[in-house]
Amino acid sequence: MKLVLATRNVDKVREIKDALRGLAIEILTLENFPDVPEIVEDGMTIQENALKKARVVQDIAGGLVLADDTGLEVDFLNGEPGVFSSRFAGENASYDDNVEKLLSLMKGVPTEKRTARFRCVIALIGEAIEQTVEGVAEGLILTEKRGIEGFGYDPVFYVPATDRTFAEMSLDDKNRVSHRGLALEKARVILKALAKHKL
Ligand code: IMP
Repeated sequence: MKLVLATRNVDKVREIKDALRGLAIEILTLENFPDVPEIVEDGMTIQENALKKARVVQDIAGGLVLADDTGLEVDFLNGEPGVFSSRFAGENASYDDNVEKLLSLMKGVPTEKRTARFRCVIALIGEAIEQTVEGVAEGLILTEKRGIEGFGYDPVFYVPATDRTFAEMSLDDKNRVSHRGLALEKARVILKALAKHKL
């Protein structure tokens, strides 16, 4: 069975491939489908965006498609950046730009008010399936970056239970506790059943 990942984000591809390893599934990416256009993420929720990305790619590539959409919800910012996490500091913002904007908005905010969560929705769309699963990881926004692994907001997202930021974790360790890792654990169960029944 083949599975197409509906993303050009190499950081996500790395984590998704690691989390799905061992399944009897060949994983392709959009590198294999150059005709797929840039997909505008204009949904009001990460669920809408995940479904949109999976649908657009499935229309072109066929087969089974997996899309991930993720948002960082910061309580002090009333849930922002949320669905706008990738464009927090502007349309073509870099990971660093977004982190710097977040740190400056959180300047002086006491620890107990720095709570946040990553929410990830994974959409799976194929001929015989249209399903979403969700994973949530709770943490705190630090006052400065820690660690060099991972991507995006990882250096400032601290997980108290592990006493580490996502950027201080190996790929495997992050996948064990992260929003994406938890969503992929659920997706894995579905994919296993699909592969078994050759759907
Ligand atoms: P999207 O799912 O591509 O819309 O991603 C939204 C943005 O959230 C990305 O550009 C990253 O900055 C950030 N992001 C997504 N997943 C992660 C993660 O696992 N760790 C840190 N930042 C993430």
